[in-house]
Amino acid sequence: MTGSLKKVECDPSCGFMVRSHDEQEIYKIVREHAFKSHNMKVSDKDLKEKITNA
Ligand SMILES: [Zn+2]
Repeated sequence: MTGSLKKVECDPSCGFMVRSHDEQEIYKIVREHAFKSHNMKVSDKDLKEKITNA
């Protein structure tokens, strides 16, 4: 299922940004990025707070 275009931006000092129509894909990519680049685990709640319309 596709919705409107959404995005999640990482910390400005990092500069990472992901944009997709697929929220689940964004969540997956952000989780991988946070874990690999920041050694951080991101909860669903954190992701829902970070996701915005692109
Ligand atoms: Zn980052």
